[in-house]
Amino acid sequence: MEDTIFDKILRKEIPAKIAYEDDDVLAFHDIDPQAPVHVLVIPKKKRTGVKTFPRASAEEIGTYMIAVAKVASHLDLDTDGYRVVFNQGRNGQQSVDYVHAHILGGRTLKWPPG
Ligand code: 5GP
Repeated sequence: MEDTIFDKILRKEIPAKIAYEDDDVLAFHDIDPQAPVHVLVIPKKKRTGVKTFPRASAEEIGTYMIAVAKVASHLDLDTDGYRVVFNQGRNGQQSVDYVHAHILGGRTLKWPPG
């Protein structure tokens, strides 16, 4: 698997503003925020994208998704709400091949996305 910028953030080789960390995930603020709150959540066990999830265990993916919800809660977004986005592949405009949940909040978001 190709080493990505998120592998380097996880190894603390390049800085990021950490929002949350536990044994399973690292969450950090996006360098180019698209909303007042824009945090990326990556699993410490690397997966390149959502399309690999069918090869993972339900426990692994469940743990990851529960952590995404915990991070949103930790960011105080439960009351007003938020959006979770996974971009996958070329049409999804995924630019980093390390799976990451975008948590977007802090304003009313438009729908549908472009
Ligand atoms: P994607 O387009 O792959 O779904 O999202 C990648 C996200 O990573 C983008 O929103 C981009 O702004 C963010 N990003 C890219 N490089 C860095 C970086 O070095 N640090 C941080 N914190 N975010 C980054």
